[in-house]
Amino acid sequence: MADCVFCKIIKGKMPADFIYQDDDLVVFRDTNPIAPVHILIVLKKHVESILKVQKKDQKILGKMVLTARKIAEEQKLEGYKLFFNCGKLGGQLVFHLHLHLIGGWKTLEEYHRWVKRRVEEGGVL
Ligand code: AMP
Ligand code: ZN
Repeated sequence: MADCVFCKIIKGKMPADFIYQDDDLVVFRDTNPIAPVHILIVLKKHVESILKVQKKDQKILGKMVLTARKIAEEQKLEGYKLFFNCGKLGGQLVFHLHLHLIGGWKTLEEYHRWVKRRVEEGGVL
């Protein structure tokens, strides 16, 4: 936990481009965006990943999704993707629970060009 990069951001020990926070969640921009808009919805509590969440966490997972929708609306995103990378073999790199919000394509053509480029780059999303 001490060397967890998202815990450091939450504790104010590392900078981030913050968008929103409340008692449970903190939201900031991804430093390595894969889309025109790439935002992370992060649980304040250090839970490693979806692989480790419990039944009692159901409510907070719902809040993460609804918060992502609120942020997407505020950012005027008409369409977007929400995803969790779950575990090492699911591409997870930071083991502190977070939901990715990506979007920002202005037209369907722009979205399709992005998909094509991502496939060429070998990206999964
Ligand atoms: P994941 O592969 O789901 O664990 O995604 C981790 C994400 O965190 C990646 O998209 C990284 O670009 C992003 N990331 C890593 N370090 C930072 C940081 N200090 N501030 C913002 N985003 C970060
Ligand atoms: Zn952490």
